[in-house]
Amino acid sequence: MAQVDPVALKISGKAKLVGVLGYPVEHSLSPPMQNAAVAAAGIDAVYIPMAVAPDDLGTVVNGLRAAGFVGVNVTIPHKVNALRLVDELSASAEMVGAVNTLHFVEDKVLGYNTDGTGFLQSLAVAGVEPAGLTVTVLGAGGAARSIALHLAMAGVERINLINRTYDKAGELAAVVNSHLGTNPHSVARPHPWDERSLRECLSHSQLLVNTTPVGMSSHSPGQSPVQTQWLHQELVVYDTVYNPLRTELIQQAEQAGCLALSGSEMLVMQGAESFRIWFGQEPNVDEMRRALLRALRNTR
Ligand code: NAP
Repeated sequence: MAQVDPVALKISGKAKLVGVLGYPVEHSLSPPMQNAAVAAAGIDAVYIPMAVAPDDLGTVVNGLRAAGFVGVNVTIPHKVNALRLVDELSASAEMVGAVNTLHFVEDKVLGYNTDGTGFLQSLAVAGVEPAGLTVTVLGAGGAARSIALHLAMAGVERINLINRTYDKAGELAAVVNSHLGTNPHSVARPHPWDERSLRECLSHSQLLVNTTPVGMSSHSPGQSPVQTQWLHQELVVYDTVYNPLRTELIQQAEQAGCLALSGSEMLVMQGAESFRIWFGQEPNVDEMRRALLRALRNTR
């Protein structure tokens, strides 16, 4: 089991309280990661996982505010439902139409979405500048929405959206293009999920982002959405799946000589942004990363 040294946590009666609401929540890796950041910063605070059924979300959020919580993360299935509890939305949350971070400030609930910004920060850490790139995104769910919208805002040239259910790729492409306003051409284009589209799109791309659960240990371990021969050395391969860390796709990318990036870094960066929002200070990202990797090793 992943453990944070309780001695390292200085929890007093005045402790700042934060946490994560999900349903279920027991598999969340945010508690070890955030508590490691709290311990490293020497803050009197604690981050608690809370299993909250969808119907109870409003009651629980009001209760946590009354109990003096600083804020919470919300995860599946609350990211869209929590919007109705928010008084003010960040630009990112408004664009994506979902929140993952709530901050309770005086009589207001502020809502943020740190997934997309976390994704962009993880690219920056790896030295990848998205402006001008042609990108292929696999999937058209919540993660794809957040990532595609942030990539579009970061100035990518083209986003090929490939999804098993083609209509959803079309809907997401329309949403992305509608956010670009005066841009002269459609940045996002939907494509069907078939070998021809995948090969063709990848051959013209410099960045591939897998946002499907294909390859996840609890979904389809050892599987990959693509074939190794479709990858090329100029392609950066980003798998948002982080469990296992070395997915089949990551291993294929390494074989093909690509820069291969794991979703663990997105998880760290979105968590670091939540920490900044709640505590107004820079977290120790190295400690967060170490705690996440330790927790991931222990979940195997
Ligand atoms: P979601 O909203 O349920 O969307 C899942 C997407 O994957 C849909 O487009 C779905 O296609 C597609 N899909 C599912 N199974 C598939 C299969 N067997 N073959 C091909 N496509 C398949 O989920 P989400 O919230 O976007 O999350 C998706 C994944 O992203 C998660 O599993 C997680 O690993 C990763 N993620 C990582 C982070 C991070 O911080 N690293 C954050 C969020 C999510 P249809 O439309 O056809 O159903």
